[in-house]
Amino acid sequence: MTMEHNEVCCVNVVVHVRPLIGDEKLQGCKDCVTVVSGKPQVQIGSHSFTFDHVYGSSGTPSAAMFDECVAPLVDGLFQGYNATVLAYGQTGSGKTYTMGTACKEGSLIGIIPRAMAALFDKIEKLKNQVEFQLRVSFIEILKEEVRDLLDPAAVAAAGKVENGNGHTGKLSVPGKPPVQIREASNGVITLAGSTEVHVTTQKEMAACLEQGSLSRATGSTNMNSQSSRSHAIFTITLEQMRKADPIMALDGIPIEEIGEDYLCAKLHLVDLAGSERAKRTGSDGLRFKEGVHINRGLLALGNVISALGDEKKRKEGAHVPYRDSKLTRLLQDSLGGNSKTVMIACISPADINAEETLNTLKYANRAR
Ligand code: ADP
Ligand code: MG
Repeated sequence: MTMEHNEVCCVNVVVHVRPLIGDEKLQGCKDCVTVVSGKPQVQIGSHSFTFDHVYGSSGTPSAAMFDECVAPLVDGLFQGYNATVLAYGQTGSGKTYTMGTACKEGSLIGIIPRAMAALFDKIEKLKNQVEFQLRVSFIEILKEEVRDLLDPAAVAAAGKVENGNGHTGKLSVPGKPPVQIREASNGVITLAGSTEVHVTTQKEMAACLEQGSLSRATGSTNMNSQSSRSHAIFTITLEQMRKADPIMALDGIPIEEIGEDYLCAKLHLVDLAGSERAKRTGSDGLRFKEGVHINRGLLALGNVISALGDEKKRKEGAHVPYRDSKLTRLLQDSLGGNSKTVMIACISPADINAEETLNTLKYANRAR
């Protein structure tokens, strides 16, 4: 597979401002976030930030966001480029809603269901020339431990809990070795011990998303606090094999010389842990310092993305601290290099959340 290695690493950073929700309205919250019209800019208090795109609460932001920011990543998969979409923000800021991780029938379509639809559309168009294989995995990282959300036992247990006859203990299966992140000599990251489901239809893929979401939600005694502390990663792997071209074969050109007849790429769709504990210390450009209860993945992610975004440092071959957390280790081959990354910073417009909103905007700003 040939790829240009001089491509500028780009992390696209966008902001999504959700509307005030019922609870906030009941509490009499005021809207304290302004989206500057005609500009990708948001203002809060005396602070102003510019990003690649800002999506306000009017219209259907997820449709525009998908078309402008995520559709190119889906297209890139067909050229062999790995990609990552990250939803960042405090608990309640709309990460799960935006990603569509907890997709329920009838709910507005989020990024993941839209990505699935775009993927299958494109496959449909190309299927005469190319043979496709699709696999999905869905894992959760909680306290630096990787949990397989598609583990058949966890899925079955989640079903039981849903039927109301089980207690919601940890769903890890006794005797099952934990999922491990491995790096092959070619830099490809794999998850040893996690379930990979082969799917052939959009419906099958959506079923995996739904099953995994269910085992995530029921995998802990306190679903809100646990799911807000964990990163959920839905991964789609696309393998392509060009079908032998009969005309070329007649011309006597060996198929290997046609080039690029096999490609494999993956798309990670990440619903990150709530950012409210990721308090910053130190000034801009310095590493986040880890303290008690600070989510290690979010700290490491901030440092990795900041290192990738710093062109000067990159040219000097500066160290990118992928190894500092499970999250960044897992995403290593899909962040930076030739891969494409979109970070969606989700914020609440409510004045009671102003401090966290400002933290989120600062974190996102550092990623640019
Ligand atoms: P998070 O995953 O960041 O904790 P959620 O996605 O669960 O946040 O969103 C919190 C609440 O806000 C939910 O009740 C959700 O339905 C609502 N919400 C989030 N984004 C939007 C939006 N764009 N429009 C309307 N309601 C939203
Ligand atoms: Mg959530």
